[in-house]
Amino acid sequence: MSTASSPVDRHARPLGVLRLSLTGRCNLACPYCCPDDVDPPDLLTLEQQLRLIRVSCGLGVRTLRLTGGEPLLSDRLLPLLQRVAEGRCTSADPLQRLRDVALTSNGVLLNDDRARALRAAGLDRITISLDAADGASAARMAGLRGGALAGERLLQQVMAGLEAARAAGFDPQKGALKLNAVIQRGVNEDQLLSLVTLARQQKVELRLIEYMDVGNRNDWRPEQVLSAAEMIHRIREHWSLEPLGRGVGGTARRWRFRDGGGVVGVIASITEPFCGDCNRLRITADGQAFTCLFATQGMDLRPVLQSEDLLRQRLITGWAQRSDRYSEERTESHPDRRHAEMAYLGG
Ligand code: SAM
Ligand code: SF4
Repeated sequence: MSTASSPVDRHARPLGVLRLSLTGRCNLACPYCCPDDVDPPDLLTLEQQLRLIRVSCGLGVRTLRLTGGEPLLSDRLLPLLQRVAEGRCTSADPLQRLRDVALTSNGVLLNDDRARALRAAGLDRITISLDAADGASAARMAGLRGGALAGERLLQQVMAGLEAARAAGFDPQKGALKLNAVIQRGVNEDQLLSLVTLARQQKVELRLIEYMDVGNRNDWRPEQVLSAAEMIHRIREHWSLEPLGRGVGGTARRWRFRDGGGVVGVIASITEPFCGDCNRLRITADGQAFTCLFATQGMDLRPVLQSEDLLRQRLITGWAQRSDRYSEERTESHPDRRHAEMAYLGG
């Protein structure tokens, strides 16, 4: 059943997670993502972003994930976090319902000062993306010119970012610091075991993501997907794993290393879709709401962003009409359609 305070969509899925993109730009150029060089005109203002988050919390959102493009490029990030944190401490503010504020970043710009400032501003969790453990591969995956040397430098920056986050109090043991890696067959599949080894050494949970057909620029082909089952099979040849399953509304199917080496997860949106309990609403930096990562079109929220009431009504209506289950349909019928770009949507 749907109520005004907690709408459900046509498949009875509630709203639970808001992924807000702060920019479509990036300081890297991963070829599987292909970010924009410039931001769209009419970026949301801080007040509009806050209104969006506040209204979404009133409709059931409990997790806010800030993303991009590269969110650390946005000068809005800290002020936004600070305002969200104020709201979380103010009685009767819907922001009090937020349980979790997370950030996805490539980690390049994450230094000690930045990490401490994010922590102080109320950020709960950081996920850092890193697709390779050796220089040449890291450069290729990030779209860097300069070969292995440029990749080594990138690796150093990202590892320094990881350390800075840890030192600032983002504790991987409490799930506050994780690694993401996209694995592409024939491109960086040789990095799989090195990435697992690196994550185990760092005592950080690694999430291995199947290469997804988001956007139109990356020339995605199914044969470039290394399935989650294959990834787990390859890891199991080296370490014994115990399945932990996937939490309701979660994206990763998780496995525990039986030798105490932590946890590894796989995000299998191509081969094992999890549309059935998808609770994620994505909002782009210019205020387009997408109810699915693979949606063709967004819903323009800008005309209603000046009024909490109008915005609430628009989100309730939009969510109630939601019937997306693209990943499941892809498996059933291979639909061919255009998608919005990943760096615009924010992952
Ligand atoms: N720049 C930040 C980063 O890289 O973490 C945040 C934005 S990025 C779009 C969010 C996540 O989406 C990253 O972990 C990235 O690896 C992942 N991603 C981008 N394109 C993808 C694709 N085609 N398939 C699977 N994951 C992808
Ligand atoms: Fe940038 Fe993240 Fe896209 Fe890579 S995946 S180009 S780091 S937005």
